[in-house]
Amino acid sequence: MLDKPPTSSDKKLDQKLLARFAAIVGDKYAITDPQAQTPYLVEMRDLFRGHSPMVLRPGSVAEVSAILQLANETATPIVPQGGNTGLVGGQIPHHNEIVLSLNRLDRIREVDPTSYTITCEAGVTLQRAREAAAAVDRLYPQLLPSEGTCTIGGNLATNAGGTAAIAHGIARAHALGLEVVLADGRVLNDLNKLKKDNTGYDLKNLFIGAEGTLGVITAAVLRLVPRPRSVETAFAGVASAEAALELLGIAQERSGGDVTSFEIMTRAGIELVLRHAQGCRDPLASPHAWYVLMELSSQQREGLRALLEAVLADGMERGLVLDATIAESIEQGKAFWRVREMFGEVQRYAGGSIKHDISVPVAAVPAFIREADAAVTALIPGARPLPFGHLGDGNIHYNVNQPVGTDKGEFLKRWDEVNAAVFAVVKKYGGSISAEHGVGVMKRDLLPSVKDPVALDLMRSLKRMLDPKGILNPGKVL
Ligand code: FAD
Ligand code: ZN
Repeated sequence: MLDKPPTSSDKKLDQKLLARFAAIVGDKYAITDPQAQTPYLVEMRDLFRGHSPMVLRPGSVAEVSAILQLANETATPIVPQGGNTGLVGGQIPHHNEIVLSLNRLDRIREVDPTSYTITCEAGVTLQRAREAAAAVDRLYPQLLPSEGTCTIGGNLATNAGGTAAIAHGIARAHALGLEVVLADGRVLNDLNKLKKDNTGYDLKNLFIGAEGTLGVITAAVLRLVPRPRSVETAFAGVASAEAALELLGIAQERSGGDVTSFEIMTRAGIELVLRHAQGCRDPLASPHAWYVLMELSSQQREGLRALLEAVLADGMERGLVLDATIAESIEQGKAFWRVREMFGEVQRYAGGSIKHDISVPVAAVPAFIREADAAVTALIPGARPLPFGHLGDGNIHYNVNQPVGTDKGEFLKRWDEVNAAVFAVVKKYGGSISAEHGVGVMKRDLLPSVKDPVALDLMRSLKRMLDPKGILNPGKVL
């Protein structure tokens, strides 16, 4: 979609300058070969493709610092990149920028089970951080389906959400301290393990969620939590989004904070998964309009299953739950999760898909879905809304698939119109047009219409102060 050819604003970098950048990391880690560059230029869904004269893969914080110093001196734009799993085009060099990949900064510097912290460099994948925490009987509670590829640096830069946010919060909640290389090459060392530190402004939070526009995160101290002693996973068929919301209320009231995931899905989405995702089976015997994937986790070894059964029984008695099954093994739990995790991937089989990542107050989710469905089908008769996601956070991935038998290109041309119809409903409920994926380039032009003008002005001032030459991920967010 946003596969833009070079434009007049694209900077042509001369070979001598490129050689100076390459000298910092060594030729082996300065990639210019187009084939070898591809994994850094194409986004996973192939919605965005970029082009770059050079991908730099520094192996130390000192090298990152030297790169930014040179970039600042020569006003050379840089796009920071982690695992390249971002969904809003923020990590892609759309205008021939140099890509600064952090994936060689992948050391776990320390795990401190007593202080409940782990100190990771930016390029450590989320999965490795979670494994390192588990090895000392702790949990790093960020959980994204992209965990095998996405990085701690990328998670913090996007302030990622995911499927455990209902219990543990989003990326911002996990970070205690950061190490950041500033646009001029200086290294901000704020790598502390402190829960309490009231010595002035909370600078780390400027860089979390800034999508690489204010500084390059090179390491972070992350907060760990106790590893749960029992986990129970249920897959339930429910009649409506309203019923799912009521079930969430029951689960939260009864379990006292043990609800660690509460995801909703539609039948249409399940059918796509069953048809196109290998090895996925319908967990329930007959079809239902809506589904809930609910996970409870507890520090108690006993009693969690009985609690989950009681929640579901209560839901059935009240006519909310039509059928449900509880995983009998870890493998079965994983199979339930696989159905949910394939939702993003299988949408391409439905043709063109216009995507939204919105949030509204949790109580407003059913009304949002109903009204957004009405708005998009009035706009494009036959359009197939496919909402799914994190009901417990009020965060719905509201995707709209093209009407059957129509032209994909013609449908995708209406992207902005569909966005406008959905965002009008989001606005009505005091929601956000970007709940967890960020702004990147995908939502940049929409920001002025939804953001408080004073907030936007402050954001621009911060950008000018921290990156006066505009070298850090230009054209993203603002
Ligand atoms: P990248 O994609 O490389 O970069 C993302 C942004 O961060 C870019 O703007 C980039 O410039 C910047 N950046 C990266 N590293 C740094 C750094 N070290 N310093 C400064 N800036 C940096 N997201 C969710 O929030 N919740 C989900 O449930 C979720 N599910 C996903 C499922 C799938 C299958 C996929 C493909 C993606 C999903 N995502 C989800 C989106 C994505 O995984 C997250 O945004 C993730 O945090 C990006 O990490 P990354 O390392 O891949 O970053
Ligand atoms: Zn999500």
